[in-house]
Amino acid sequence: MNGPIELANGVYGLGSEVVNWYLVEEGGGLTAVDAGLPKFAETLEADLRAIGHSPGDVDAVVLTHSDSDHTGVAAALRDAGARVLIHSADAETLRHPGPKKGDASPPRALPQMAWRPRFWRFMGHMARAGGTKPPKVEDADTFEDGEELDVPGRPRAVHTPGHTDGQCVLLFGAARALFVGDALCTENPLTGALGPQLMPKPMNVSTAQARESLAAIERLQAGVLLPGHGAPWHGSPAAAAARARNA
Ligand SMILES: [Zn+2]
Repeated sequence: MNGPIELANGVYGLGSEVVNWYLVEEGGGLTAVDAGLPKFAETLEADLRAIGHSPGDVDAVVLTHSDSDHTGVAAALRDAGARVLIHSADAETLRHPGPKKGDASPPRALPQMAWRPRFWRFMGHMARAGGTKPPKVEDADTFEDGEELDVPGRPRAVHTPGHTDGQCVLLFGAARALFVGDALCTENPLTGALGPQLMPKPMNVSTAQARESLAAIERLQAGVLLPGHGAPWHGSPAAAAARARNA
């Protein structure tokens, strides 16, 4: 994905070959779902112009979680007038980005990833695009599990912890689109494996908890799943969760 691609009515995908973020249009306003990598700010105005908008039209940036490949242009959009929203359990790591804990803590995670060429490609891409120096967001609004957010598209947030403590999926009911962040990916950043699956263990705070969170995803009704990494997946959340359990 590069420039904005219309994936469904009023739903646009943006980003790079390894990192996605999205815009949802409703009633002349926009909600950004995630915010990609910091370097994406360089094309932000042109990307918005391509769909007939300017940065000031983005009312809200709803973050699925606080990892630096999902927060890159949040501060730029906030400076243009958007609210930034995140689950309360990730508010602290958004204010103070740093190394992850648990399965993803560097001493545990690095030996499992360092021998994979794709890991270095992913990290090189992240570093070149500013992902190792994420801009802090100090003043985000927080939400809780089950909340319907008062932003364009009125998504419902469902808490699916595991990749991070505050990772949530966002259901935009009218678009029948479920934005899953990194609760699921459809292209494994370490192995390149395709199809709905959990993120690789060394990238999750708790992979066991991420697996348990599939139960919250499979209850939702949607026609397409839009992940942080990988292509859109057309099918039900229940079918995606079943694929992820067996992957
Ligand atoms: Zn990610």
